[in-house]
Amino acid sequence: MIEGKLMIKGKMPKQCVYDNACKLDKFCMKRSDLSDETGIFKQIMFIVDRLHIKGHIGIDCKKYNHPINFPNLQGVVTVMCEVINSWASGFCHNTKHMNAIRFNFFYSLFFLNIIKLNLKEK
Ligand SMILES: [Zn+2]
Repeated sequence: MIEGKLMIKGKMPKQCVYDNACKLDKFCMKRSDLSDETGIFKQIMFIVDRLHIKGHIGIDCKKYNHPINFPNLQGVVTVMCEVINSWASGFCHNTKHMNAIRFNFFYSLFFLNIIKLNLKEK
């Protein structure tokens, strides 16, 4: 069940960038030996995004969860979720009275346009 929810194109992500990844890392590692299913957490590296890393001053945060330790993330905008969340929240007044079908349709178009925008910029 966990695998199915986290898989992207049939594969488990090797890295997870998140605001509070250091705590998520500890949470997942505590549970990683509970079953084969939770054991997949051992395969994922949890990384704090660049926006939030300033507040993470713990030794473990700097050693295991700092984005600077992951060369493949150099040049990657790890705060993209924050940017998209900020854009999406600008529509909360428009969407709060929509039914589920219209809401899903609206945000499907929203995210499709973000993807198109990103592709044009590259
Ligand atoms: Zn931390």
